[in-house]
Amino acid sequence: MKNALLYEGKAKQIYSTNNPDEVIIYYKDDATAGNGAKKAQFEDKGRLNSEISRMIFAQLMKDGIKTHLIKAVNEREQLCHKVDIILLEAIVRNIAAGSLVKRIGLTEGETLNPPILEFCYKNDAFNDPLINDDHAIALGLATQEELNHMRSEMLKINEFLKALWLEVGIDLVDFKIEFGRMKDGTIVLADEISPDTCRLWDSKTHEKLDKDRFRQDMGGVIEAYQEIHRRLEERSE
Ligand code: 5GP
Repeated sequence: MKNALLYEGKAKQIYSTNNPDEVIIYYKDDATAGNGAKKAQFEDKGRLNSEISRMIFAQLMKDGIKTHLIKAVNEREQLCHKVDIILLEAIVRNIAAGSLVKRIGLTEGETLNPPILEFCYKNDAFNDPLINDDHAIALGLATQEELNHMRSEMLKINEFLKALWLEVGIDLVDFKIEFGRMKDGTIVLADEISPDTCRLWDSKTHEKLDKDRFRQDMGGVIEAYQEIHRRLEERSE
């Protein structure tokens, strides 16, 4: 079933299958930050992220969002539609944190209403710079119509995710998603949604339960991912 390695990223590997339109995505235990400047491995992170992302994608699909996910192969691997990833990081922010605080001086923890939507050019050589629609079009990354479609999906996904995380006692601070084009050109949600790609703060204690624990050397990285996984599992029972 799992054939040749097609692509290896920082946190995942993509394998071909007997069906040219489907791939298997394997979640690694590797963690990187600062554009690969900082590297570590956390035992079981790949399994936890794969399971967390699968549960979230399944919920979003129930809510009518189109995604690349077909099904879990096992706890670390997912069978997905093969897509061409659009080289944009689509970021939604509900609370000021991270690069936004550094860039424009908002205070960490400040509520952003309405949420801020951003596109970054997914290109390590340029450190994933923030770009506007004109840049994305000039680079040939997407058409204006596609950018508008992604923005509307980002807002819908944000509303669904905010509610989902709140049910399990988590404030969704911000997140990054990626979209891909299927063979027929349909744009679907791809990549993953996990503590690697979201900022997740405990609603009561404001404790950080995401990759910032690794970025900021706070310790307790895997324990935070386990806690997120536990809460989502309890919800789905
Ligand atoms: P920031 O721009 O504040 O660093 O990140 C905003 C949100 O997008 C955070 O939830 C962060 O985890 C996510 N994000 C931004 N860039 C990347 C990236 O290159 N990789 C991952 N995994 N997440 C990212």
